[in-house]
Amino acid sequence: MSCIFCKIVNKEIPSTILWENNDLLAIEDINPVAPVHCLIIPKSHVTTVAEVDGNQLKSLPQCIEDLIIEKDLKKHGYRLVTNAGFDGGQEVDHIHFHLLGGKKLGKMG
Ligand code: 5GP
Ligand code: ZN
Repeated sequence: MSCIFCKIVNKEIPSTILWENNDLLAIEDINPVAPVHCLIIPKSHVTTVAEVDGNQLKSLPQCIEDLIIEKDLKKHGYRLVTNAGFDGGQEVDHIHFHLLGGKKLGKMG
């Protein structure tokens, strides 16, 4: 399997792990675009949110809640984004959510 996020999930490539359970892994983005830029990665390889088994996302709210406390985002807010496909600007073809914050973010589009 040559997918870079599968390798991160399998600990074949190092990353800064922020949160983990059986279904999800949260890490620091290697190229942050905001003071806080975490990636939440469902562990099994599917490409987009449209294909993921909902059971694997059951712990997503808990993961987000823990990260926003850890990263002190409760007061000023944050953005949760998943890019899909070419028009969506997806570069890694393994589903992931970007958690962004720590500054006033620009409008999307
Ligand atoms: P996408 O454009 O697919 O929505 O986002 C892919 C994200 O993965 C980018 O923000 C990029 O910086 C991040 N990324 C790519 N390769 C690695 C890596 O090896 N380690 C980490 N921690 N992040 C990565
Ligand atoms: Zn993968």
